Amino acid sequence: MTAVSFQSVAYLLAALLFILALAGLSKQKTAKRGNYLGILGMAIALVATIGLALLHAENILLAAGLMAVAIAFGAVCGVHKARHVEMTAMPQLVALLHCFVGAAAVLVGFNSFLMEPGGYFAGQMNVYHLGEIGLAIFIGGVTFTGSIIANLKLSGKIPGKPLTLPGRNIINLAMLIAYVALIVPFGLSRGVEAGLPFLIVILIVSLVLGIHLVMSIGGGDMPVVVSMLNSFSGWAAAMAGFTLGNDLLIVTGALVGSSGAYLSHIMCKGMNRTFTGVILGGYGNGDASKKSGGSKQDYGEHTETTVEDVARLLKDAKSVVVTPGYGMAVARAQFPVASLTKQLLAAGIDVKFGIHPVAGRMPGHMNVLLAEAKVPYDIVYEMDEINDDFDNVDVVLVIGANDTVNPSAETEPDSPIAGMPVLRVWNAGKVIVFKRSMGNAGYSGVQNPLFFNDNTDMLLGDAKSSVESIIGELKKQLRS
Ligand code: NDP
Repeated sequence: MTAVSFQSVAYLLAALLFILALAGLSKQKTAKRGNYLGILGMAIALVATIGLALLHAENILLAAGLMAVAIAFGAVCGVHKARHVEMTAMPQLVALLHCFVGAAAVLVGFNSFLMEPGGYFAGQMNVYHLGEIGLAIFIGGVTFTGSIIANLKLSGKIPGKPLTLPGRNIINLAMLIAYVALIVPFGLSRGVEAGLPFLIVILIVSLVLGIHLVMSIGGGDMPVVVSMLNSFSGWAAAMAGFTLGNDLLIVTGALVGSSGAYLSHIMCKGMNRTFTGVILGGYGNGDASKKSGGSKQDYGEHTETTVEDVARLLKDAKSVVVTPGYGMAVARAQFPVASLTKQLLAAGIDVKFGIHPVAGRMPGHMNVLLAEAKVPYDIVYEMDEINDDFDNVDVVLVIGANDTVNPSAETEPDSPIAGMPVLRVWNAGKVIVFKRSMGNAGYSGVQNPLFFNDNTDMLLGDAKSSVESIIGELKKQLRS
């Protein structure tokens, strides 16, 4: 078998493993296996790519040395970051990682244009290849700056408020038209001197478009932005695959690009938004006082409860549903929540989890936390699977969730979150809300009338210590 056909077989195998990995990741039960298949596919792809690159290198030792330094540097940075990142900071880390894919696509594009052996300089680079390079640099540039802005917004380093320049959609459209107007003469150009200025302007346009696109999207739409940039990074990688003539990169990029696009669709559905509505911007400016459904509306008095009363309520309940949200991640309360679940199940009480698609701060945030705490996956339900069952539930524990359980999304047409599907926890017999104070609203800055319902009691305090105290109290009460 020649080195090239060995590489083709290895790439085919890796591509198959990536597809199987995605299929596995679609269900919690098979997610672990999916992860291992993905790791195996990536290992095969890396060995085949590095092996072939070394075989073709003029100076194997120098090439191996350079690759070892690059891999070691990346590995040290990656491991350091992964070990130190807080679970609550995962979304901004994911956004940052997307920016590297964008930067790689830009660098690969320029490298392919400037360095292709005997290609461009010999005047043999065809118009299609130049088109691939131009597109790789454009998508890569948008992904690069868009991801950096998303990272800064998610980490709170710049305000989440949308930048609403006059005629902002026309600005975006003008930049797209400028790209098309530049790619045509670039594709027809001959020689580095003639093509390079077009390519540099394409890069500048894409960098500005990335900044403007994400700056004009409001904080409330960040779930879609994260998945959209995930999709962009996939397409940027696929374009880099075209410029390098690397089939596996094309397949992998397309898998990431299309799954990211589908995820964006799911996130839009979860928030009752349209994709174009998100791109056109404006929702969720994080300024509660300006919203008609905001915290100024008077919903009456709230009722507070105690750890002892909640433990008693749980002891007497037949069925309990836990709806976690961002606050569970902040408090790192998933571990005591898992212990409480175990305790209740052991006492013969039915416990289920209801997960909203945009709960937390990144797609699948709650599922990751619950899996980390080893909550059995078969009691974890998606919103659509559990939303009609709340009438038959005795107690709902709302642990650090707010927007995702806000009835005003259904009852107040002028609310900024109007139309967003929410978990209908208020239909249960009793609702206990875990949060630190009555002063803070959720991510969208909208007050939650659920907190003032007759069948809702507030357990104020950090979710982790509240749940830990309930575990201790419940143990006492179950013994007596
Ligand atoms: P929210 O952000 O609406 O509410 C979080 C709640 O947690 C608040 O009530 C807060 O109240 C409480 N909380 C915070 N810290 C603690 C703590 N230590 N202990 C107890 N409670 C705490 O969360 P949801 O998950 O319900 O909604 C997610 C929101 O984030 C949606 O608006 C969604 O659109 C948005 N979003 C989602 C993304 C995603 O990909 N999933 C990405 C970006 C945004 P208090 O401060 O008083 O404690």
